[in-house]
Amino acid sequence: MEARAKPGYRPVMRPERLNSLFAETASLKGVGPQLAKPLEKLGLTRVKDLAYHLPDRFVERRAVTDLDEASVGENIVVALTVREHRASSGRGPYRILAEDAVGNVCTLTYFGRASYTARKQLPTGEKRWVAGRLDQFGQMLQIVHPDHVAEDSASLGGRLCEPVYALSEGLTQGRVASLVAQALDLLPDLPEWTEPGLLERMGWPGWATALRSAHKGRDAAARDRLAYDELFANALALMLVRDANRTRRGTPLAGDGALRAKLDLPFALTGAQQRSIREIEGDLAQESPMLRLLQGDVGSGKTVVALSAMLVAVEAGKQAALLAPTEILARQHHETLMRMARGTGVEIALLTGRDKGRPRESILMGLLDGSIDIVVGTHAIFQDSVAYRDLALVVIDEQHRFGVGQRLMLAQKGRRTPHCLAMTATPIPRTLTLAQYGEMDVSRLDELPPGRQAIDTRVVAAERIEDVVGGLARHIDGGGQAYWVCPMVRESEGEDIAAAEARYAQLAERFGHDDVVLVHGQLKPDLKDTAMERFASGAARLLVATTVIEVGVDVPNATLMVIEQAERFGLAQLHQLRGRVGRGAARSVCLLLRGEALSEVSRERLALMRETQDGFRLAEEDLRLRGGGELLGTRQSGDTPFRIASLEQIEKLLPIAHDDARLLMERDGGLTGERGEAARLLLYLFERDYGVQLLRGG
Ligand code: ADP
Ligand code: MG
Repeated sequence: MEARAKPGYRPVMRPERLNSLFAETASLKGVGPQLAKPLEKLGLTRVKDLAYHLPDRFVERRAVTDLDEASVGENIVVALTVREHRASSGRGPYRILAEDAVGNVCTLTYFGRASYTARKQLPTGEKRWVAGRLDQFGQMLQIVHPDHVAEDSASLGGRLCEPVYALSEGLTQGRVASLVAQALDLLPDLPEWTEPGLLERMGWPGWATALRSAHKGRDAAARDRLAYDELFANALALMLVRDANRTRRGTPLAGDGALRAKLDLPFALTGAQQRSIREIEGDLAQESPMLRLLQGDVGSGKTVVALSAMLVAVEAGKQAALLAPTEILARQHHETLMRMARGTGVEIALLTGRDKGRPRESILMGLLDGSIDIVVGTHAIFQDSVAYRDLALVVIDEQHRFGVGQRLMLAQKGRRTPHCLAMTATPIPRTLTLAQYGEMDVSRLDELPPGRQAIDTRVVAAERIEDVVGGLARHIDGGGQAYWVCPMVRESEGEDIAAAEARYAQLAERFGHDDVVLVHGQLKPDLKDTAMERFASGAARLLVATTVIEVGVDVPNATLMVIEQAERFGLAQLHQLRGRVGRGAARSVCLLLRGEALSEVSRERLALMRETQDGFRLAEEDLRLRGGGELLGTRQSGDTPFRIASLEQIEKLLPIAHDDARLLMERDGGLTGERGEAARLLLYLFERDYGVQLLRGG
């Protein structure tokens, strides 16, 4: 056992046998500064990230002896003899006529610079093996930008089934594939952490085999095994957090209600708010630290519940902290709390990463000497340099943005373990609640404050954008404010930003540059804040944004929202976005612009948005609609806390992972013993090692 003196997160050395996996991608052959950037964009900074960069799908090609054997639309490999090069006339493509074994003619078509390589690869009169998708152009068979051209069949033999990876600007399939191959060569030999009975029942391969085979072709068993590893690691870590918390001692907090009685609220609490506050009070009065999730739809009034909880701590002579995911939100929370608590005399400070120098020093001093009762901020409030006199409660807003355990660990700042209240507006389906929060206690705000109006939601075809802009003009002329949301969906973030910027330019042209602001993820924080502040204060009338406005922004006068390419968002995300309007007494409108070619499922999903405003229902239905039969890799990022496991796999495998984690902890000796040691490696592998730290830190 280690000393118990110092609570908190102390990094323990990662087991050496995982070193090759955690080596930086820069250590691989051929990775220089030029590749580092696009790789980083995809989150591929270490060897293990590459090994786990599983293909989105596979191209499967058929080798045919001649084109009569192939059908249009099919991916093929065929031998062709080059007959003639036709340089482009003007801006047209470069065409190469080629002939198969029985005299069928096929055009190989190249646009732009690709033609230079083609000229070299396909000399007239020579025979070449070509891999690509057979198309028809008028009467002519053609292959546009063949995937591969080779002199002999052998070098295309291995290309009949080829992975297709997610890319970012500056990367090619070939480059990623070769890096992945290098990563796979570096896989260490790891002991099995999966329960042997389960492995056998499922017919799953071992870890390294599963990884290799998941890159080679469709292999459901391999993918499932890898997903299971991730889910098991998560379940195990949450269980460790939970267990450690049970044995920890916190400070029972009993407030006398004196401060809460002085709150300046322009409304009466809803029944759900009162109930949640009672549940929290009950937890706070216990010696074991609270670990509670407050789940409530957007606008359900979580902030005042958080404030009440924090005031209990202050009444008991302690401090409380509120952690927000972004600076904008921290600022807003700070203002709201100051307003509601102005009659209480409670000292509330704001601390973000931007505070430097003397103002920061004075806040740090106040936290240390206890003259500040409540601090609101970003993760800056948990930096090592920040010490509290007596922190007894940590509230974490928009919990889903943070890794649960990590944040809980960061929260270990008090002399004793502080109580923890996590809040989320994400209506997480039950399956996922378990995944994200393990066995946390949950309070639900299942009742909206009275007087909220339904948001009038309409689906509009994108061709009618001019009408929409016209409506927007009337809305703004009438004194209203509005959001215009652009999606983040393209292959590279740069293109998304470009699209948002283009839209911003158009709208600013139309409505005046003073009236329109743009906010996106790559904007410098101070520019972002300035833009947000101008919008919040009413100086700017229209906010063009990517999804950064998703969480928490509160501008009641903004009652119109336009969402472009709405079909590309997850329903839960749309719901969050839409929750930015409908905050005041006025009627609110949300226009969902949709593209032309919609799948049946997309149609149904948008219809559902129109129909209901119940976040839980939307989340459940979304899961159902997207559940069956979707291709690999089509899940939206950010929907789940997992990188490998799809929603479907979560539904199928999570309960098993959860049971198995419990079995390991309760029956099989936890992280000791042979399987326990292996499971420990797994926790490191999936960076859930805070679970391990807990065992030591105590
Ligand atoms: P959430 O964080 O859950 O999305 P907020 O705490 O920001 O919601 O509350 C949304 C809005 O509802 C705020 O303007 C808040 O003042 C108001 N509000 C909260 N509780 C009530 C209530 N019981 N009655 C009326 N309005 C309320
Ligand atoms: Mg909120």
